[in-house]
Amino acid sequence: MKVIRSLKAMAAWSDRLRRAGVTIGLVPTMGALHGGHRALIRAARLRCDALVVSIFVNPTQFSPTEDLTNYPRPIAKDRALCRMEGADVCFEPTGHAMYPDGFQTTVILPSIARRWEGEARPQHFSGVATVVAKLFGVVRPHLALFGQKDFQQSALVRQLVEDLNLGVKIVVHPTVREQDGLAMSSRNVYLSPKERIVAAALYKSLRAGADAIRKGITEVAAIQTTMAQIVKEEPALTVDYLAVCDPRTLEPLSLVTSGAILLGAVRLGSVRLIDNFLITPPATRPL
Ligand code: AMP
Repeated sequence: MKVIRSLKAMAAWSDRLRRAGVTIGLVPTMGALHGGHRALIRAARLRCDALVVSIFVNPTQFSPTEDLTNYPRPIAKDRALCRMEGADVCFEPTGHAMYPDGFQTTVILPSIARRWEGEARPQHFSGVATVVAKLFGVVRPHLALFGQKDFQQSALVRQLVEDLNLGVKIVVHPTVREQDGLAMSSRNVYLSPKERIVAAALYKSLRAGADAIRKGITEVAAIQTTMAQIVKEEPALTVDYLAVCDPRTLEPLSLVTSGAILLGAVRLGSVRLIDNFLITPPATRPL
C-alpha cells in the first residue's frame, strides 16, 4: 500500500490507472478508523480494481467551537487497517495542500442540506461538499462509498454529484453498529463508560419509532412521542432533533404513508451523536 500525501502524486497515480482501464474506488474518511469504516473499505474492495482510502480531517467542516484540534488521529493504526483491508493507496493530503492561500470557491448547498445537521452545524455541509468535490477532482474515482450513518451527508453527496455532473457512482453502505445498537463513530471514544451505556438510547428511540410505523401508526406526532419517551428515560441525554422525514427531500412529514427516514441527534456530555433509521415503502402486492 502506498501512502500518498501530495495532490499532484495522487492525481498522477489515478491518471495512469484510468488510462489503463482500471476502475478506481474511493472511501473518504477523517481517520480514527473503526468497524464502520472497515465495512465501507471491504465493500469498496469488492467493487473496484484499485482502492484509495483518503484520511483527511477536513477543517472546513468544523465550526470554531467544535473538536477539530482534539479529533483523534491514530495514523499508524489507520494505515495498518487500510493495508489489512487491501487498500492500494492511503491518501493523506495536508490541510495546506487542500486549502492553499487564495482558496476561495465553495458550493451553494441544495435544500436537502438545510435542515437537521445543516441547522445544528451551520458550516458543516458547505465544508463537506467542498472537500468531497475536491477529493473527487484529485482522485478521480469511478465510485465512492459513504455510510448511511450520515444519511443527510450521503443525500447531499448524491445531489452534488448529479447537479455538478461529477461522474462518480455513489454507493451508500448500511450503518455498522455495536452490539447494543449504538452506531460506530470515531467520536464514541470520547464517551465515559457511563455515557457509553446511555448512548444506546438514541438507536432504541429510532427503533421504537420504526416499530410504531410497522404496527400501522401513521401520525408523526404519535411516532415522535414514542421516540421521545425512550430518550426521556435518560436524563443525561439532550435531544437536538428526533424527526420523521421524507427520505428523498428530508422535509418533515406529518403522516407516514409510504417510506420515511427517522433522523436523530442527541448530546451526551461533550459528545454529539447522530443516527437514523430508514423505513422503505412496503413492496406493492400484485392484485
Ligand atoms: P468519517 O470518518 O466520520 O468522516 O466517516 C467516513 C465515512 O464512514 C462516512 O461516509 C461515514 O458515513 C462512514 N461511517 C462512519 N461511521 C459509520 C458506521 N457506523 N457505519 C457505516 N458507515 C460509517
